[in-house]
Amino acid sequence: MQALLDDYIQGAAFATELVNTSPAVWVVAGDQLRDSESLHAFLVENDVQTEAPDEHDLEQVRALRERLRPIVDASSPGELVDLTHELLSTVPHHVELVEVEGNGWRWQATTDGVDTVAQELTVFTGYALLSALRMLGFERFRGCASPTCNGVFVDVSRGGRRRYCMPDLCGNRINVANHRQRRNALGNK
Ligand SMILES: [Zn+2]
Repeated sequence: MQALLDDYIQGAAFATELVNTSPAVWVVAGDQLRDSESLHAFLVENDVQTEAPDEHDLEQVRALRERLRPIVDASSPGELVDLTHELLSTVPHHVELVEVEGNGWRWQATTDGVDTVAQELTVFTGYALLSALRMLGFERFRGCASPTCNGVFVDVSRGGRRRYCMPDLCGNRINVANHRQRRNALGNK
């Protein structure tokens, strides 16, 4: 598989989504990667082209998820880089400069003779996280602002003011809670 290193926004966004499928993030919802079918649906939803994953892939992607979390949640840029280098060293691959038709030259990472989903995703997310650090800065790696969510995320938005790991879910839940609280306060007057 080949990952264009300039596509770090997509890769960092994918790493965020993957980390937050963990049962440790949304405790009530449980594991979002329950079986190989839900993994397949998750990959399709996130525009990752792949054949249908099996049980073994599921196990490996869950293991990758466990390694990505401490990277997104690292306490320093140095730790982030070290953990990512360690992760990338687990998959044989090489980086080369390739010409993209009509689009100039791009850095590309290609896996060497291995083709499991987890290995492809390792290269895809690993370089994306390093590039996000380089291009956007360490302050873009954050914990979710929702008090009821244990999520972490890489803020790849243009403005860099994202507060929630899953804006539609964690953000809304807070809005709903605030709204209720206000309404109750008014009702008590
Ligand atoms: Zn969240």
